[in-house]
This record gives sequence, C-alpha cells and structure tokens, in this order.
Amino acid sequence: MLLIDCPHCGPRAEIEFSYGNEAHIARPLQPEALGDEDWADYLFMKTNRKGVMLERWVHSHGCRRWFNVARDTLTYEILAVYPMGAKPPKLPERSYL
Ligand SMILES: [Zn+2]
Repeated sequence: MLLIDCPHCGPRAEIEFSYGNEAHIARPLQPEALGDEDWADYLFMKTNRKGVMLERWVHSHGCRRWFNVARDTLTYEILAVYPMGAKPPKLPERSYL
C-alpha cells in the first residue's frame, strides 16, 4: 500500500485517496470544435509509461483537495507531491527496458 503525503494533511494511507488520471493534460480551448476522434483522443488516450508518471490524486476521504504526484509506475515509489497549478519538479530520468 502506498503512503501518500497529502500536502494539506500529511502522510496518509493510499485507501484515503482516489486516482485522478494523468496530470497536466490541457483541456481543449474549443471542445465543440473537435471531431469525435480528437475528443476521444483527449478523453481516453493517456500516456501509460513504465517509469515516472505525473498524476492527479484527490484526498477523497480527507480534505477532499486535489494535488499532483510524480510516481514511478514500476516501483510505486512516490518521487514528489506538488500543488495543482504548479509546474512539476525536475526529476532524474528513469527508464526501463
Ligand atoms: Zn488531505
């Protein structure tokens, strides 16, 4: 189980949180102008990298606030927690073959 360090409440068990998908995905400025294929691409096509991913999480059974997490999807190691709207921290590259 992950121990996630909520920036507002401190470290809590993973069970208190909900995963909110990939972080830093820009919503289309004019969604009504997109075709079905482009809209589906925005909604469903996410990066599924083996390695460091930037993710959104919400402390759904706590303060109910959203924040970003940099997590290694292979090791489950949480490398950084940072606020919504902030730029991701510089992290060392990790790659797995
Ligand atoms: Zn919290």
